[in-house]
Amino acid sequence: MFINTIFNFYIFNNMQNDIFKKLCSLSPYAYAQIKGGGSYAQVFGYVYFFKLPAGVIVMADVEGLPHTSSNIFAFHIHEGDNCDNNFLNTGGHFNPTAQHPNHAGDLPPLFSNNGQAWFAFYTERFNINDIIGRLVVVHLQVDDFTTQPAGNAGEKIACGKIVKI
Ligand SMILES: [Zn+2]
Repeated sequence: MFINTIFNFYIFNNMQNDIFKKLCSLSPYAYAQIKGGGSYAQVFGYVYFFKLPAGVIVMADVEGLPHTSSNIFAFHIHEGDNCDNNFLNTGGHFNPTAQHPNHAGDLPPLFSNNGQAWFAFYTERFNINDIIGRLVVVHLQVDDFTTQPAGNAGEKIACGKIVKI
């Protein structure tokens, strides 16, 4: 235990990049509660957004993901403002002036482990205040990071509106 504590202290204080340090000292600035729809109503989770001086940490915790051949699920911020009507009005990816996967709202995919996915990711692609009121969307398929306009990610299975805390 003592050795472990020393080790952790050493690592923590000698990291060249201090994003994780900052994350440990912050409360989330905004979040989205993710809920599945249609055949995927069991999908549920939260996405938290932490404001850093130059960028944003996105932390996702999603469960109830279906079993698929890849168990990888495309994950984006969409420019719409509601998840109503089984995600009919979610719009395109946030910041349509760039091409996929260079939209401001393009995020790493969720890698599911028996239905559960967790990750944290740092980005300077958007200002945190510009995504308040936008949507986080989970897709059924892998994001191929090539096909326009959305990476051939398949149907939307879950969605949540980003709200400021
Ligand atoms: Zn995109």
